Amino acid sequence: MKLDDYPWLTLPYQQLALNILQQRAHHALLISYVQGSGEDELIKQLANRLLCQSTEQLAPCLTCHSCQLFLSNNHPDYYVITNEQGKQSIGIDQIRSLSSKVYEKSQQGGNKVIWIKRAALMTEAASNALLKTLEEPPENTYFILSDEHNSQLLPTIHSRCFSYFLKVPELAQSIEWLKKNHNLAYSDNELASALLLSENAPLTALALLAPEKWQQRKNFCENLLTALPQNDYWQLAKTFEHEQFIERIVWFCALLSDALKAKQKVGRFIVNRDQVPLVRLLATNSHEKITALYDLWMQARQQLLSVTGLNKELIVYNVLAQSEVID
Ligand SMILES: [Zn+2]
Repeated sequence: MKLDDYPWLTLPYQQLALNILQQRAHHALLISYVQGSGEDELIKQLANRLLCQSTEQLAPCLTCHSCQLFLSNNHPDYYVITNEQGKQSIGIDQIRSLSSKVYEKSQQGGNKVIWIKRAALMTEAASNALLKTLEEPPENTYFILSDEHNSQLLPTIHSRCFSYFLKVPELAQSIEWLKKNHNLAYSDNELASALLLSENAPLTALALLAPEKWQQRKNFCENLLTALPQNDYWQLAKTFEHEQFIERIVWFCALLSDALKAKQKVGRFIVNRDQVPLVRLLATNSHEKITALYDLWMQARQQLLSVTGLNKELIVYNVLAQSEVID
């Protein structure tokens, strides 16, 4: 897909590309985003613009030699650094091997672009090594750091960068986009629910709306409708694989927090707009019970995310068993 296919990216791109065109782009740009809001597409286009050797227009020309190298994923002055497969961090070696290259002349005679993707995964040593480079920026070299808006980047790195937050589009705009471009046979309430469950990020919502995935959520909600009145959480265990439990936790907790909103008569803010009967059913429980369930399930999520080697099945069964004794 091209950048034009994501209408909400047009303005952010124009703002950032104008700086490039007027030769006042900061040498280190930090882009924070909500995952699935088109962050990669925006950054690729900016990198392409920085490398393009035509200086006339906001968009990269796509025809110069530099653009062609970029488009064929072969540009020698373009580096993408992120955590290697199976690793949860960006190590100092990755930054060091980069540092040796950035002080050399660019191979195509234009700019060099370094994209550090998921920059908050840099270890402290890696961050400090990068900091040195950012403090003495090599000529014609542009760093783009990117990560999710709630990630923890070292403040010293932050202070060396020009920060830009990529906003998610308005709900109505995203609903229109999903309808127009993806031919989805869902109601507006379903589209809104998928978006709200995805922090309003259109591409995350689109993935959630994939028929099989969306059906899984529907099934989960239907199973809750029968399991809850019988206080039989074990029924739920039959309906999904253990690997899918983290996602189910997120769905259930969104329903619980909707139930609290319904109790406090602020139902217009609910996320699960397509699941009103289920939200109402959950809202018949006491405030204490709803928050206790929420805490229990969220703790399990934390455990499942952070603990390796522990018997995940056991965590899941434990949560289901404990859910039944909360009153
Ligand atoms: Zn070009």
